[in-house]
Amino acid sequence: KQEAAAKTKLVVGADATFAPFEFTDPATGKYTGFDVELIEAICEEAGYELDFRSMGFDGLIAALQTNQIDAVISGMTITEERQKVVDFSEPYYKSGLVVAVQAKNNDIKSFEDLKGKKIAVQSGTTGALHAEKATDKDKITYFTSSDQAMLELKNGAVDAVVMDYPVTAYFIQQGNDDVKMVGEILSAEEYGIAVPKGKTETLEKINAALKTLKENGKYAEIYKKWFGEEP
Ligand code: GLN
Repeated sequence: KQEAAAKTKLVVGADATFAPFEFTDPATGKYTGFDVELIEAICEEAGYELDFRSMGFDGLIAALQTNQIDAVISGMTITEERQKVVDFSEPYYKSGLVVAVQAKNNDIKSFEDLKGKKIAVQSGTTGALHAEKATDKDKITYFTSSDQAMLELKNGAVDAVVMDYPVTAYFIQQGNDDVKMVGEILSAEEYGIAVPKGKTETLEKINAALKTLKENGKYAEIYKKWFGEEP
């Protein structure tokens, strides 16, 4: 083990409004979630001192590009578009998008039913891109956080939300039974940890730590804690 003073700091950005991946624990006021515990374990394994910072999701890539942060773990989907401007670790979580509507809605049953409907999304996300394929852009309301988009749906100001499946499922499970998911999971996505382009040393350390955690059972332990099942 290295001395604390000798540890390199890793400044990690996330949008901590994305439960169960990164959010503020209402009881302790501290950041928690699957991503938070995973990056803590990665830093411990790789000998980094973690400096975790929350910021809006649509500002994370720019923060990496300007080296304000060293890495992003934020339920961020590995996409070709993003791979042009940042580098991603090996995938660490399989995800997908889903359509959410009010529980009393019997009109929208799938993604195809969204044409002409009002949709709330989180800015800069894969969910926003999918919503833009489903309806006209002027029917879409963009929010900084996923909570705000969900609130808009609960309030009945929009007809639907397009968002990551695990986040939507967790939200409903947290007592929001006035919301339901409809149709199939829309896309096969994988989350990765992003670093600025060309930061191969950081990326290699993150990948090596992730591999160790998958091999030694720590990844499975964290996964089980948050998702109640084996990865
Ligand atoms: N997985 C989605 C994306 O990468 C949403 C991520 C998020 O909102 N934190 O665009």
